[in-house]
Amino acid sequence: MCKLFLLPQIHGMIMAQGMKGGLGQKMEYLSFSRLSLLETCGLRFYYEYVEKATPTDHVVTYHASFGKVIHSLYEEHGNTQGRASYDALKMRYDDTFVPIVEEFPTREDAVAFYKKGLQAISRFSQYQVDDVIDSEKEFLIDIATGVPPMKGFIDRVLHVPTYGYVVADLKTGKPFSQQDLKKTRQIVLYSLACQDLYGEPAKEGYFDFVVQGGRVWLRVDEQDRLALKSWIIEKWKQILREEFQPKYTKNFCRSFCPFRSRCPEYERRQTV
Ligand code: SF4
Repeated sequence: MCKLFLLPQIHGMIMAQGMKGGLGQKMEYLSFSRLSLLETCGLRFYYEYVEKATPTDHVVTYHASFGKVIHSLYEEHGNTQGRASYDALKMRYDDTFVPIVEEFPTREDAVAFYKKGLQAISRFSQYQVDDVIDSEKEFLIDIATGVPPMKGFIDRVLHVPTYGYVVADLKTGKPFSQQDLKKTRQIVLYSLACQDLYGEPAKEGYFDFVVQGGRVWLRVDEQDRLALKSWIIEKWKQILREEFQPKYTKNFCRSFCPFRSRCPEYERRQTV
């Protein structure tokens, strides 16, 4: 087994040693969330996906659990061509929400999120979904020789015979803008996946902010898909170069990093 160890910071960068030649095997696939994490904090990515370390610190999980519950109801609504009514969805929501209640910091937080969920169900249960052809559609697509394939799931694929394919991603968090490239790449990736799955790329896609309401639409062309491929290749090269720079963000590190107690950057920030 490859023995990994970390040197202290070198020019602001944490360098991992002992991985040469093994990374291709370690990383069977890439995904949008993995590469986003690499951009958010390289060292956290390293701990999780290269070293595959066992998490040691408590993290906040209720946002993710709430998102999973709503995703599954959204999927059910699409898969039943809208036959799953608000009442039926609410009944299932009540059942699936109970097990996650203990993850919320307080009872008030749980109640606030429960109400947000009802708002979301009330909104999407009224959608016309005749054009939905797939929900939670899995993909595994090749990007370039020597780069692990990209894996993921498209929340919703729509096909309009007179127009073509449209992809959608459900968001339960705060809305963001069309200009937020870090986030909107996800729709471009889905367009690419659509080409692989159905022989035709999605011409456009949208983020569906079901809690707050509103959609952010994006048109996607060949240039966007090529730019996305270049970005993925560049991220893979960064991984091969073993550049896993820590990026400290107070709230993210404290609430969402399960490796903070072993992170030199986190330790340093607690003492300054
Ligand atoms: S504590 Fe923060 S800086 Fe350190 S690995 Fe985790 S996310 Fe990165």
